[in-house]
Amino acid sequence: MVIEVCVVLLILAALIVGQARALSRCRFWCQSCGTLFSLPWTKLLFRQHVNDEWRLTCPHCGCKGWCPARRPRKKEDGR
Ligand SMILES: [Zn+2]
Repeated sequence: MVIEVCVVLLILAALIVGQARALSRCRFWCQSCGTLFSLPWTKLLFRQHVNDEWRLTCPHCGCKGWCPARRPRKKEDGR
């Protein structure tokens, strides 16, 4: 039973790290100063988010706020 719990935890950890690594390829837009910035995946772990808006601290102006993520792929058409 302990092994099963460990396996589930490992899968969850892999999913969380995988999501953070995918996000590190995105860029975030600071709504205070208008800078597009990216963050290393280690800084994207356990961040609050609503849809594509992430609660981050802007490295440019130091403002803490909701930053919309810009995906690297051009798949924004169709909406
Ligand atoms: Zn900023």
